[in-house]
Order: sequence, then structure tokens, then C-alpha cells
Amino acid sequence: QYDIVIVGAGHAGAQAAIALRQRKFDGTIALIGDEPELPYERPPLSKEYLAQDKQFERILLRPAAFWDEKQVAMIPGTRIVSVDPAAHQVTSQDGETIGYGTLIWATGGAPRRLTCAGHDLTGVHAVRTRADVDRLMGELPTTRRVVVIGGGYIGLEAAAVLTKLGKQVVLLEALPRVLARVAGEPLSRFYEAEHRAHGVEVRLDARVDCIVGDGARVTGVRMADGETLSCEMVIVGIGIIPAVEPLLAAGAEGGNGVAVDAQCRTSLPHVLAIGDCALHANRFADGASIRLESVQNANDQATIVAKALTGAAEDYEAVPWFWSNQYDLKLQTVGLSTGHDEAVLRGDPATRSFSLVYLKQGRVIALDCVNATKDYVQGRALVVAGAAIPADRLGDAGVPLKELAA
Ligand code: FAD
Repeated sequence: QYDIVIVGAGHAGAQAAIALRQRKFDGTIALIGDEPELPYERPPLSKEYLAQDKQFERILLRPAAFWDEKQVAMIPGTRIVSVDPAAHQVTSQDGETIGYGTLIWATGGAPRRLTCAGHDLTGVHAVRTRADVDRLMGELPTTRRVVVIGGGYIGLEAAAVLTKLGKQVVLLEALPRVLARVAGEPLSRFYEAEHRAHGVEVRLDARVDCIVGDGARVTGVRMADGETLSCEMVIVGIGIIPAVEPLLAAGAEGGNGVAVDAQCRTSLPHVLAIGDCALHANRFADGASIRLESVQNANDQATIVAKALTGAAEDYEAVPWFWSNQYDLKLQTVGLSTGHDEAVLRGDPATRSFSLVYLKQGRVIALDCVNATKDYVQGRALVVAGAAIPADRLGDAGVPLKELAA
């Protein structure tokens, strides 16, 4: 029995424990996770860790001693399979029950898998956990050709690293452009061109029929038109499915995620949810219910629950931000561009330093900044204010965004 049980020892769960102790919460806390490791940063898995530029110890969120010192009971390697809100307890895959006063659900999501034939062959990888990436890296010495399925951030980052490691990479995107779900067309076209310039074969409108193998290992990807792309490895980056079944089975409202209110409370008493799995009304999406898959959201929602549980309740209103590193390009995003009706280019993509400012009904809703940290930093205030600024002013890269904020 713990005062607070946190299920999911990723960014959100770990940060919730940290924030509770920072706020002087002195009750008992348990952090239960199904991975064997202490909480670690996930973004480097498709960046520095995959590139072997950073050792695992360097991506731990906190050193082991921290959790002892803060008296957070770590329970790794434990998967919670059911929740009983009436009895105030959760049950693990081994049938062990753990009682809670308050439950914080922070389970993120599981990688969406292909459903076609061959999806489970050896050599087909997801990139979500350290174990996924270690398995993948173990096969790299015998891998020459890689097919990456999915032109989202993770697929693109993996393609960039593997190309740099000397692999021959084909990237397949089902839609007519990469990053279609999250960015405007000029950004998609820029990244497609960059990847092609670095030797990645980017195929758009690509239809996969199945994964082919020699009975055990993958040997290629068959396309709907019958062509087979030979490869030794397939990386699948087609999104996640929020890990919320135990909560929904216990009666929590939700669907694509567990529904939470402005303070991250679910519809079940004494059960909160945060991070990738939390379906919340977001101010920066016009109040629409969305899930955000970002470190920012995980950390900020962790702070919201820590405040709610220490008598300083506050609504979640944080501005979304995100980053992605590919080659020597640092993309920084602030706000949510979904639903924009205008995208204004600031600077020239040919210089590899530019921004895209997204407007909706004349108001700034988001920025994508490529090697343009100044725009990112200064543009934030425009997004928060929903500033109404004429497109020609935004498009004049000679005028700093902070001068437009007034
Ligand atoms: P997670 O970090 O996924 O943690 C959830 C944990 O709960 C996991 O350990 C999971 O195994 C565990 N779990 C699930 N179900 C159970 C259960 N039933 N019982 C016990 N444990 C359970 N975001 C950015 O902002 N910038 C980036 O550049 C970026 N790059 C990324 C690159 C990669 C490869 C990946 C995978 C993600 C990236 N993200 C990035 C997204 C970011 O990592 C996530 O938004 C963040 O990790 C979400 O935190 P979370 O705690 O909600 O989920």
C-alpha cells in the first residue's frame, strides 16, 4: 500500500514522482514500470543512442541514487494488467496486488504494428524502448540495407542515423509527403530533399503489401505493385497505441487514450493520467481533445498532477513544444499547426535555416523552426498570445519576431 502509485516509469511517471518530492509531498510513492531499467530519456533512442554517440547511463533521467534519496520505491519489470478503483488497487501480470491512495497512470503507448504478413519476422523492429533499440543495434553489423516504414519523426530520425552509419536506407511513406500529420508542405518537402541529398531513397504514396522472409528472418518488403525491396532490416515507425486498456476496462472514459480533465483527473475516483496516454482538451487545439506525444506534455502534465495532489491545483494550459534532430538540422516546433489555413515562410530553405509560421484566421498558432532557434524562442510569445500579424510582416526574416510581438 502506497499513498501514490504511479504506473509507467517513463518521462511522465518519473517526472510526477520528482515534482511531488519537489513540492514536499512526504507520503509514500511507488513507481511501477514494465521495463527493466530505471527511467530514461526516450528521444535519444532514435538519435544519439542509436548513433552510439551516447551510452545508456547518460540518458538516465536521474542516477540510481536519486530515487533512494527521494524515497521513491522503484518497482521495475512489473506490468499492471488490471485496476480496481473500488478496492484502490492494481494487479500485476504475476497476480500481485498493490494498494494505492491515488493512482497516476503514465503508461505512454505501444508501437503500432503492421498487420500484414511477415510483420513479426526477426529483423522487423519498432523504436520505442531501449530493448527495441539494443536488439536493432545488435543486428546492425550484419545489415547493409534497411527499409524504414513511416515518414514521421521517428522514421526520419532513424533513417538519418542509419544513413550516417553507412547503411543503404529506403524510407516508405504511405501519404503523399513525409510529416503530413504534423507539418506544412514546405517543411515536408525540405526534409524529403535533405534525406534524398544524404542518400536515403524516399518513396511517397508507398503501399506495402507484406514483409517477406526466408522463414525466420526478414529478406525484403513487397510493395502493392509487386516490386520487392530487398533488405536485412525493417524499422516500423507508424505511431503508437495508448496503453490504457486496464483503465478503460475498469470503466474510465476514453478511447484513443484515457480522457482527463484540466487537472489530469480521469472519470475514475482518485485516478489521474498524464503523458502520451492522456486524452485532454488542449487550449492550443481550440479545446479539441487530443493526446500529445512529447516530453513537454509529459513533464508539464506531471507538474499539474503534483500540484493537484499538493493543494495547489492549476489547469493545464502549457504551450506545446517539440524538437527533432536529423543530420545537422535542429527542428524546433512550438504550438500546434493542425488546422492552419496559411503557412508563411521566413527565410530561405536553401540556406538550411528558416521557419514556417502557421496562421489560422489571421492568428499565429504555431512555428516550425529549422536551425532557427531565435525564431523559436521569440515566436513562442506570438503563439501564446495568438497574435494577429500580417503575413508579409511575418515573412520578412529581417525583422526579429520579438519586434512583432508588441
Ligand atoms: P513513456 O515514456 O512511453 O513511458 C511509459 C512507460 O510505461 C513505458 O516504460 C512503458 O513500458 C510503461 N508501461 C506501459 N504500460 C504499462 C503497464 N501496464 N504497466 C507498467 N508499465 C507500463 N518527444 C519530444 O518531445 N522530442 C523528441 O525529439 C522525441 N523523440 C522521440 C524519439 C523516440 C524514439 C520516441 C519513442 C519518442 C520520442 N518522443 C520525443 C516522445 C517522447 O519520448 C514521449 O512523448 C514521452 O516519452 C512520453 O512520456 P510518457 O511517460 O507518457 O510515456
